[in-house]
Formats: sequence, C-alpha cells, structure tokens
Amino acid sequence: MSTATSFPTLRSQIAGMAVTELADRFGTPCYVYDWSIIARRIADLQLFDGVRYAQKALSNIAILDRMRRHGVVVDAVSAGEIERALAAGFRPDTHPAGIVYTADVFDQAALDLVVQHNIPVNCGSPDMIDQLGAVAPGRNIALRINPGFGHGHSQKTNTGGPQSKHGIWHEAIDDCLVRADRHGLTVTSMHMHIGSGTDIEHLAQVCGAMEKACETVGRTVQTISAGGGLPVPYREDQAYVDIEEYFGLWNTTRNRLQDKFGHAIELEIEPGRFLVAESGYLLAEIRAVKEMGENTFYLLDAGFNDLARPILYGAYHPISIAHRGPVSGLQRDVVVGGPLCESGDIFTQEEGGFVSRRTLPVATVGDIVVLEVAGAYCFAMASNYNSKYRCPEVLLENGEAKVIRRRETASDLMGLETIPE
Ligand SMILES: *Cc1c(COP(=O)(O)O)cnc(C)c1O
Repeated sequence: MSTATSFPTLRSQIAGMAVTELADRFGTPCYVYDWSIIARRIADLQLFDGVRYAQKALSNIAILDRMRRHGVVVDAVSAGEIERALAAGFRPDTHPAGIVYTADVFDQAALDLVVQHNIPVNCGSPDMIDQLGAVAPGRNIALRINPGFGHGHSQKTNTGGPQSKHGIWHEAIDDCLVRADRHGLTVTSMHMHIGSGTDIEHLAQVCGAMEKACETVGRTVQTISAGGGLPVPYREDQAYVDIEEYFGLWNTTRNRLQDKFGHAIELEIEPGRFLVAESGYLLAEIRAVKEMGENTFYLLDAGFNDLARPILYGAYHPISIAHRGPVSGLQRDVVVGGPLCESGDIFTQEEGGFVSRRTLPVATVGDIVVLEVAGAYCFAMASNYNSKYRCPEVLLENGEAKVIRRRETASDLMGLETIPE
C-alpha cells in the first residue's frame, strides 16, 4: 500500500464522473461514495480471518449490502444497527457471525432483539453478563476488555484506560467469569478496541494485554478481535498503518494462544473508518463569497448539520474546488463555513473552535466545494439542526451513480410531531 498521500485542491471528477454533473443531478449538499475505494480497503485486510465492519461509521443499508457481498460481517451497537444489519441481509448464525452486538450497555430494545434473533453479544460491562444471562442462559459471549491503558490525544476518542467508559476493566475478568458461570454462559471470544493507529510499539503492548486476558479466561476462547482504530490519512503528512506489520503482531499473539490452548484461534479485525472514510465526498455549492476584515469566507449550502467532525473534534478534512467556469489557477487563503445560525459552523477550524484559513483556488458563487475523506462519521452524524433536511447519499459503482438515500422533505422533518388539541 502506498504511504504517499496528496490532496489536490482542484477536483473535476470523482470515480470518473464530473463533480459538477453529480451536483446538478442530485442537488447540493449531497454525499457521494466511491464503492471501488471501499472494495480496495476490504481487500487490504484479507490476511485476517474476519473483517467485522463497525457500521456506526457509515450505516447506509446499501453500503452494508455491498460489504456483505464482499465477505464482510458487521458490528451493531444499538437496536437500530441490528435492524439495519438484518435489512442488509446479515444473519447471526453464519460463520463468522454476520452480526455481533458490541456495547457497554443494553437498552431494552437491543436486549430484546439480541434474544429474539440469537445475536452474539460482546459485553463491555459486567452488568451485561447478568442481564443477558437472566433471559438467555447457556449462550456463548465475548468480553470487551479495557487493558488499563489507552491511546489517542483527545479524551473524546480515547478508548482505554481509567478515564474511558469502555470495556471490562482488566482486573475484573475473574468476576466476569463467575457471573458467566452463574448463567451457564461461556466466554468464547475476547476483544480489545484501543486504536493504536500507526504506533506499533503501543500495539505490542495491546497484544501483550490481550494474551494475558485470554490466559485468565482459558481454553474456551476461540476468537480474538483486534478492534478498530486503523487510521487513514486526512492530511498530506499522515500515513497508513503498515497492515502486514499490524497483522504480524496480532498473528504472533494468536499463534502463542493456539500453542497454549491446543486449538485454532480466529483473528478478527473491526475497522470502521478505515473501510469507508476515503470513499466519501460531501458536495456543496458556494452560495456567498464575503470579505470580512482580513478574512475571505466561502459560505456553502452544507453546514455542521451535514458534517459535524470539524465542530466536534476540530477535525481536518481536505477541501477541493470543482469550478463551473474557467479555471484561473489563482489561489487565496479562505475560511470555509456553512449556512447555520451558529458561529461554530465553520469547516476550517481547529480543536477548541479556533478558525483557521485554507489555501484554496479562487472561486465564485455556484462553484462546487468538495469536502473529502468524508465517508466515516460524517453522514452518520448528520442532524436536522436548524430544521435542515438531511442530504441525499449517492453510491458511485461501475460508472453509475445510484441514490441510496433520498433528500429529506418537510414531511420527513415533521412527520413524527403532533399538535395536541
Ligand atoms: C467505533 C468502533 C470501532 C471502529 O473504530 P474506527 O476507529 O472507526 O476503526 C470498532 N470497534 C468498536 C467497538 C467501536 O466502538
């Protein structure tokens, strides 16, 4: 896999289709997904026994369906995600299980579905073991372990250590085994989702913690999951993880456990972002160009209701322009913002809300702005704030563009509301 990344600021095509034609045909704002990129990322992970997609990154059922056809299985974190997985044709009784429920809590709706459809559960809290055991004794379960340390800069994205709410504390495994015994549940799978990213030294620490946790559980373990957190580059200075090296470390852990237990151990990976981030583009139209003191603003018809990562985390998305008219070749430093009545509605901001500028081609009203690497945690976090209609999603596949979710309407917006007498 190439580690060189470049994000040109001019873009005329996506998946061989003209950006301006896509904008005209589907309207703006609009998400488009290039299926070929997802297919390539799935292929990158073929060393693993199972690729379990964390669907919260992008949960459109058309994407889930295509993934299923490519041998991917899914993770569900809510009743709604279980329903999506079922609608996309996943079944819990395949091998590996088409759906696994992974969360730190059950709500009643999720627990009911898990019991009804016999969906395997990955327990992120000891209480889940008792709650499942009380209504569905005798099942196999997975434990999600918090090894006592985490990784990552932001408290909002750290998934291990004492500050994290996720997983079962590594010192509580014995207590969990007692709880499981009480209900005849068997721990057959062990899971950690820490997100070491490209930090191979840190990953070695995670693998060591996994081995130790599996030894505590013993020979009932048949599957280990490396969790998600594989990074993708959002900036030119960022790189992919070396998948072979990443797999190599986990494979060593797997092999050691196989030797210890005397039976085969399957190795799953559970990516969200890695599979879909680069496939997605948010197309928006420039509706105003304003000079405000020393700043020039490009104001778009897309806002943080469509793409929230910048306002939530100060996340950086590459931005490019598709011109409707001639290309001048000139560039300028601009601030890119949206239409919402909220001063934080700025796509070019850093963590803490500090507005920053981006060097982009000189553009005018009507030109299309493309927010790139917008497949993961983008549409999935879209909202109706300011009573904006959520925008359509379009799948680009084999040279064709297909609507996989239509633009919302006023009746979608108000359909659940009533005015009492
Ligand atoms: C969100 C999540 C993932 C995927 O994380 P990425 O960083 O998108 O790869 C995997 N496993 C679990 C349990 C998650 O909650």
